[in-house]
Amino acid sequence: MTLSASAENSVDIREARARSLAAKYANATPSEILDVAINEEFVDEITLVSSFGAESAVLLHLVAQVAPDTPVLFIDTGKHFAQTPIYRRKLARQLGLTNVIDLKPATDEAAEIDPDGSLWQSDTDACCTLRKVRPLNKALDGYSAWITGRKQFHGGARVHLPVFEFKGTHFKVNPIVSWKPEDVDTYFKAHDLPPHPLVEQGFPSIGCWPCTHPVAPGDDVRAGRWRGQSKTECGIHRS
Ligand code: SF4
Repeated sequence: MTLSASAENSVDIREARARSLAAKYANATPSEILDVAINEEFVDEITLVSSFGAESAVLLHLVAQVAPDTPVLFIDTGKHFAQTPIYRRKLARQLGLTNVIDLKPATDEAAEIDPDGSLWQSDTDACCTLRKVRPLNKALDGYSAWITGRKQFHGGARVHLPVFEFKGTHFKVNPIVSWKPEDVDTYFKAHDLPPHPLVEQGFPSIGCWPCTHPVAPGDDVRAGRWRGQSKTECGIHRS
């Protein structure tokens, strides 16, 4: 077997494993899915990637109940609203998460590619690659799986997401993929979770300040992200 055939075979095996897990745990609760992922399937090889955005407290709380020392990766793009890093610290402390790691763009790359910090004005894809995709890809080298808070109701490429998937080089675990907005609200209230301060200002999805706008009631949750552009995802979920 050639090297590339061997690699393809390996990908096939991991895709099959993800499909099998997705089928087996399609109707499991988020806590059951997290327990299986963290304590059985990907022991010491799994991380949670969180934006500490509008809905993030739910998954962070769920993970904290299963294993509060799970590594949590927060991509600090340098372009967050001022409220987000404050919320990140407050939430981590309140939930007892002991291993939150801030990822930042490489200083030399930022100096070369975006010296004055205005790249987002001319090329949002390049800016997201510099500030989100590359730092995350580098950090994910140490893991075989990551937990995401993506949900089918977010629309776009997310409507058919399964609970487990294998994309590119990593497994992804999506424990609350089938949750609706009302499930998120109920969980926030049941566990008295603090909302991100921008939610009450009309931001149901919160990213970087240059690329996030408030939305009208009833609008798509992510309608305020990269408004006026065809872009709907930052690229970290592209395989
Ligand atoms: S969301 Fe906007 S500011 Fe943030 S990394 Fe992407 S293009 Fe840059």
